[in-house]
Amino acid sequence: MKPSAFKYVRVASVEETLSALSEYRGEAKILAGGQSLVPMMNFRLAQPAALIDINPLKELDYVRVEDGWLHVGARTRQRTLEQSTQVKENCPLLAEAVKWIGHPQTRNRGTVGGSLVHGDSTAELVLVATLLDAQIVIQKKGSSRTIRAADFFEDLMTTHIDDDEFLTQVSFPIAPARSGYGFRELCIRHGDFAIVAAAVQLTVGENGSFSDARIAVSGVGPKPLCIHGAVRALVGKEGSGDRFDEAAARVPDEVRPVSDQRGSEAYRREMARVFVRRALADAGSRAGVRL
Ligand SMILES: Cc1cc2nc3c(=O)[nH]c(=O)nc-3n(C[C@H](O)[C@H](O)[C@H](O)COP(=O)(O)OP(=O)(O)OC[C@H]3O[C@@H](n4cnc5c(N)ncnc54)[C@H](O)[C@@H]3O)c2cc1C
Repeated sequence: MKPSAFKYVRVASVEETLSALSEYRGEAKILAGGQSLVPMMNFRLAQPAALIDINPLKELDYVRVEDGWLHVGARTRQRTLEQSTQVKENCPLLAEAVKWIGHPQTRNRGTVGGSLVHGDSTAELVLVATLLDAQIVIQKKGSSRTIRAADFFEDLMTTHIDDDEFLTQVSFPIAPARSGYGFRELCIRHGDFAIVAAAVQLTVGENGSFSDARIAVSGVGPKPLCIHGAVRALVGKEGSGDRFDEAAARVPDEVRPVSDQRGSEAYRREMARVFVRRALADAGSRAGVRL
């Protein structure tokens, strides 16, 4: 199918983007990489009156480290994140996760902001943003707000952003010292959307116990879930792999998968446990704990 008729607006600055969004009063859509929007328009699932093309906005194409945060502009391509030394050094979990997004061709076009706003429940960036509780900056004409990832991802492909708003930046906390990460994904072929994915960041304190643990899973509910029971099984306990089985065993009770053609509810529950266990082992090994 072909999309319904729309106006094409090419903008040259954030200011122009905000003005165009305001002018079309919620009837326009931002065109970023177009990897999800264009197919949706072809299926007539989206019929915007206008497309606001932000591809010329070099001012939103950046990766910056400042005050303990890795700031990423919304128009930054996923491939740029994957290849960025700053990302590898300061937020290696993000660098690892991005490799799992589609194929090099899709990462060459797909943007960080587009993936977050689209909010697919198994998108790798959505999982990492949830795990690390990223801070997301949203602007509209005359105002700006910052929202935590936990509040931004509301439900299945539903994100907390209005039609006249523009996501301009996402910030990830820099990985603490003595921390390790793990990212594991179950998919039929590399490049497919995940059936289940697990992300973990473990930090070992000066006294050798786990001072912090973050564990999140996607593919087991309408949006990625942080697994608090598994975190409680680790934080404050001796920093070794002895408790990883016990922590992973908490996962099935905390997730809410539904069956579909790619996996039954029971299969997803079990795979969530298995993939969290593997991600814990990777994170523990990178944090230097005894496994
Ligand atoms: C073959 C294929 C395989 C893929 N595999 C994966 C995968 O494994 N994992 C994965 O996570 N993704 C995958 N994707 C998705 C892709 O990588 C993009 O991340 C995703 O499509 C959205 O990014 P985009 O820049 O293309 O956004 P677009 O398609 O341009 O936009 C998506 C939506 O976000 C809105 N939008 C975009 N940017 C902004 C902004 N800054 N502010 C406000 N609204 C905005 C648009 O209006 C639209 O509603 C795949 C895509 C394809 C085509």
